[in-house]
Formats: sequence, C-alpha cells, structure tokens
Amino acid sequence: MAQYDYLIVGAGLWGSVFAHEATKRGKKCLVIDRRPHTGGNTYCENVEGINVHKYGAHIFHTNDKNIWDYVNSFVEFNRYTNSPVANYKGELYNLPFNMNTFYQLWKVRTPEEAKAKIQEQVKEAGITDPKNLEEQAISLVGVDIYEKLIKGYTEKQWGRKATELPDFIIKRLPVRFTYDNNYFNDKYQGIPIGGYNKLTEGLLEGIEVRLDTDFFKNREELSALAETVVYTGQIDEYFGFSHGSLEYRSLRFDNQLLDQENYQGNAVINYTDAETPFTRIIEHKHFEFGTQPKTVITHEYPSEWTTGAEPYYPVNDDKNTEVFSKYKELAQNEDNVIFGGRLAEYRYYDMHQVVGSALKKVKVHFGE
Ligand code: FAD
Ligand code: UDP
Repeated sequence: MAQYDYLIVGAGLWGSVFAHEATKRGKKCLVIDRRPHTGGNTYCENVEGINVHKYGAHIFHTNDKNIWDYVNSFVEFNRYTNSPVANYKGELYNLPFNMNTFYQLWKVRTPEEAKAKIQEQVKEAGITDPKNLEEQAISLVGVDIYEKLIKGYTEKQWGRKATELPDFIIKRLPVRFTYDNNYFNDKYQGIPIGGYNKLTEGLLEGIEVRLDTDFFKNREELSALAETVVYTGQIDEYFGFSHGSLEYRSLRFDNQLLDQENYQGNAVINYTDAETPFTRIIEHKHFEFGTQPKTVITHEYPSEWTTGAEPYYPVNDDKNTEVFSKYKELAQNEDNVIFGGRLAEYRYYDMHQVVGSALKKVKVHFGE
C-alpha cells in the first residue's frame, strides 16, 4: 500500500488546486516542488512591504463567476484594473488598442473615424485571410499600430519574426472603439489583497509539502510513495526528451529597490520598440495601491530557454505543436499519471484557465 493517494509534482496553481480538491475528497496528498517556495509562477516576495511578483506581473481576470468565487474563497481580491501604457521611442500610448490609442496616433475622435483609418490601412495591406501573428495584427488594427506597438515588442518577446508566430497570441489583446484602457474584457479582475501567496497557501492548508525536491532527482522513490502521480512540470522532461526538446521562452528579471515613492506612475509600462532590450518595466506597489516610501521596479528581458533556465512560455508554433502531439500521445498511454498545467499541457494558460482546467480534471477523475 502506498503512503499517499497522490504525489503532486509542482506546487503552482494547477497542482495546488488539484491537491486541495483531492484532500477535500478525503485523499491523502504529498506536494513537491523543486523551488524553495509554493505558488509556482504566481509567487510573491515581500520587499519593504511590497509584494514583488517574482516571476513576472500577474493579474487575475476571468469571466467565470464560479472561478472568481472559488479564488475569492481563499483570499479577497482588490479592484485593480490593468491599464498598461506603451512607450514607443519616448511617445506614450494607452493599451489595449482603444479610442485613446487611436486619438494619440491619428488624432481621430470618433469610433467611425478610427474604424475608417484602420480599414484604409487594412485594405492597403491587402490581407484577406490572416495566417500568422503579423497578418492577424495588421488586419485587426492596421499597419501604424502594428509597426509602433506590436512588431518590436512581439519579436523581442518571442525571439522570432511575427510572421512565424501563431495568430492566437495577438488575439489575447482587446481592440475596442470606446475610451476604455482596461487590458481585459473579463467581468472580474483583481489582485489578491496581501499577495498571491495567500491564495496558494490557502489552497495548500493542511497538506504536506516538500520544497527543494526535484521529482527527477529521486523519481522512482517518490513515485512509489503514491498510487497516482499528478505531474505539472515540463512534459518533454517527463519523457526524457525522447522526442526532442520543446522550445520555451524564458525571461530575466532585473529587480531594483528605489528610494523614491513612485517611479513610473503605473504598474506596467511596455517598451514596444525593437531597440530597447527589455519588454516592460513593472512597478509592483501599484498592483495593491501601495503607499510605501520606497518602490521596487523590474525590467523584464526576454531570452531563449536553455537547460537550467525557467521555461516561462510555451512556443506554440507549428514545429513545437507537432513535437508536443507526440508527447501528448505518450502521456495518454501512461498509467496512474495525471498531466496538467502550463508546462505539462504546453499551453499558454492564464491563471483562471489553470484553475478551470484543474477543477475540470478533478471532476472527470473523481467521476463527478
Ligand atoms: P507553474 O506556476 O509553472 O507551476 C509549476 C511548478 O512545478 C513550478 O513551481 C515548478 O517549480 C514545479 N516543477 C516543475 N518541474 C518539477 C520537478 N521536476 N520537480 C518538482 N517540481 C517541479 N496569468 C494570468 O492569469 N494573468 C497574468 O497577468 C499572468 N502573467 C504572467 C506573466 C508571466 C511572465 C508568466 C510567465 C505567466 C503569467 N501568467 C499570467 C500565467 C500564469 O503564471 C500561469 O497560468 C500559472 O501560474 C500556471 O500554473 P501552473 O501550476 O500550471 O504552472
Ligand atoms: N503585445 C504587443 N505589444 C504590447 C503588448 C503585447 O505586441 O504592448 C503582444 C505580444 O506579442 C505579446 C502578446 O501581445 O506576447 C500577448 O500580450 P500579453 O500582455 O497578454 O502577454 P503576457 O502578459 O502573457 O506576457
């Protein structure tokens, strides 16, 4: 008889939701993570009273009331609304693409004028059936916005030409003909009051967690502890890279504590030209309306993933999608292992999608 019902590899959001739900159903879980903390990429570090989003800025948003109520049952969320500003060679533009942006670019004042301007540019570009990120972007917002606010940022972020990237990446951003700088269309949005750690600590309350524990350093022994393994790490690593490595995008975060109250006046400023080597500067205190005398800012530098780096983003282009499909097939034939989350499903999941995916998996797994 194994000691635990489930060994959960990865204390990120997916693993934590699964662990919580299985425990609620009377199962005994052991959660491990190779990092020295829980929370995965949502983890925050407290610096001078400011919750620093250690692995990149995280804003929770969802249209699903059940998911919103679920996360709020562990920690109350504030009313933060993400409204990033884009800096293109010193000029400032509102994001996402909305009437403020259109006015700043073209001095158009009405939705009709803005639509006419975009249509004129789309027509000139002659794209009828967009097949990649560049074509999709131009057909949504025209050439000017593409050149100033999308191309440079995207190619820095992904290290690939926009013509080689899938169109769904740009469809994440709203385009709207109202003066509304809300980055998301979702009904619910916010940041956990007191930081994200409260969310994962709430999910993992009463559950045994072993940190600094890498599944692959002790695979057989750890697997033998439980009836079922729930795996939320990289799928290619699980199968010993037998079909080759999947590609990921990584990031380098350069954090600075500044002896001033307010550095940039906004949580997120994107640098959208090709020359600036970072993609954005995050000023963490603004996520929680902080009034501390100091501030922490982070320059975010994208980089290609190599062994040992953190695999932040799956690169869902054709080549990697094909490799992933082979791993998916292997995963389907693996007994007593459940795969889930951003790394195991190789999907550009947001947090609400991770919560939704884990809750769905639980229901199917427990036959509910
Ligand atoms: P992870 O958080 O990656 O957790 C996986 C865990 O597994 C990690 O802790 C890892 O250490 C552990 N692990 C892996 N392999 C092993 C092993 N061999 N042994 C032990 N442990 C292992 N989502 C939003 O909704 N809003 C945002 O604003 C947002 N911003 C983001 C910004 C950035 C820069 C990034 C990278 C992501 C962002 N996301 C955002 C997405 C969000 O981070 C993910 O949807 C979510 O955190 C994924 O949860 P997960 O549990 O699948 O993966
Ligand atoms: N994007 C862009 N310009 C911006 C912000 C985003 O071109 O100022 C594009 C870019 O390709 C990016 C994608 O839109 O990868 C999705 O942006 P999002 O802010 O959702 O990225 P994330 O927060 O997940 O890194």
